[in-house]
Amino acid sequence: MPGYFIKTFGCQMNISDSERIAASLESCGFVPASRIENADLVIFNTCGVRQSAENRAYTLIHNLKRQAANDKKQIKIVLTGCLANRKDVQRRLKDLVDLFFAIDDFDSFKNWITKNYLKIKNSKLKISAQNGSLNKEEIAYLSIKPKYNNKYQAYVPIMTGCNNFCSYCVVPYARGREISRRTEEIISEIKDLAKNGCKHVMLLGQNVNSYKGENGINFSKLLKKINAIPGKFWISFISSHPKDFDDELIETIAKCKKVCEWVHLPVQAGSDEIIRKMNRHYTQKQYLAKIAKIRKAFKRYKPDAIYSLSSDIIVGFPGETRKQFLESAKVMEKVKYDMVFFGQFSPRPGTAAWKMKDSVSRKEKARRENFLNEILAKTALTNNRKYIGKTVEVLVEKHDGRNYFGKTRTMKNVKIITSRKNLVGKIIKAKIEKASAWNLEGRYGNF
Ligand code: SF4
Repeated sequence: MPGYFIKTFGCQMNISDSERIAASLESCGFVPASRIENADLVIFNTCGVRQSAENRAYTLIHNLKRQAANDKKQIKIVLTGCLANRKDVQRRLKDLVDLFFAIDDFDSFKNWITKNYLKIKNSKLKISAQNGSLNKEEIAYLSIKPKYNNKYQAYVPIMTGCNNFCSYCVVPYARGREISRRTEEIISEIKDLAKNGCKHVMLLGQNVNSYKGENGINFSKLLKKINAIPGKFWISFISSHPKDFDDELIETIAKCKKVCEWVHLPVQAGSDEIIRKMNRHYTQKQYLAKIAKIRKAFKRYKPDAIYSLSSDIIVGFPGETRKQFLESAKVMEKVKYDMVFFGQFSPRPGTAAWKMKDSVSRKEKARRENFLNEILAKTALTNNRKYIGKTVEVLVEKHDGRNYFGKTRTMKNVKIITSRKNLVGKIIKAKIEKASAWNLEGRYGNF
């Protein structure tokens, strides 16, 4: 039986896509290879958000082909994800890669597999819809029942693609326009997960706020429906766009018991002029007003809960002056984030910002990132200290031989001290005793 290996780069959406690719390959007889060099078929699920991720994929593909040639081994390479549609990438890798396919064109992958592997066995690659037939606006691969990474946490894509065209971003080109999954299919997947003991469902989409299900079901209504599914599990979601993060959604997040007290709302920049050049359609004032509403809603509907706020910020966008950069620092001081994922601007081929002058030096971008990181370290520490003495729910994710590690509903990493056994995959209560900027430490007990 042919062995496959999937190398995934980038975001949770790519991880989730890889789970579906794995399931479809296993449905027709492929088996997972323990190491990339042992596989007959290697899938590279690529990320084009930064040049560094792109370069890592190139290096790995070159090394893998060289190694296979040295070992006189036949190996086939398939490339999907953000880079698959890029003509320059296809030209660069044409002698090394056997198939390029965009993830929304799963049919070409299916046909290629059938042609190259299955004709001999007279078998067929299955893409089995979980819930009836699909209409042509739907993306078939999202209906594949995935091979989840574990039983207690699951990524559930609710939509794919994006219509926003932020000037720095490749997603609308790599994944195409927004397409939402049918509500019925999402609910059915989550019901099954809950029945099988899943404790945390993370809903995925490039912009989940613009979810459009059948019969006018928007993202708030979808959250309410998922919240009503029986069972003890958490619901979280990424990613949101501030322009679409409306009052109905804020109230829903704060009211729904299963929805985690964590909001990831990427601001990307603090300067109105840079936000405009990014084509993001909000101002700093409007963004801060949304944050104030989120705080108010949590205070009203979950007064005892600690909540957390996180964001993405790009430093060194073309033309970003020092004064404009300090507006990002100002937003960080005001919001007091728990976590921020920083990106140093990296021009991406095909995007509007690709044509802008990348005017901020690498050194200055690194300096700006460090500056913001120092603010984050302070606000995250202050926020984390609020947990000391409190008892919080923790989903236990692993045991390193001595201690357990897990996450709170606010996505904080927690080390758990206990002598109990078999806690991985369970939601437990831990009393927090220590806090640093990035971690909490607590004790498991009967509180
Ligand atoms: S909202 Fe903007 S940053 Fe997010 S995926 Fe769409 S284009 Fe990219």
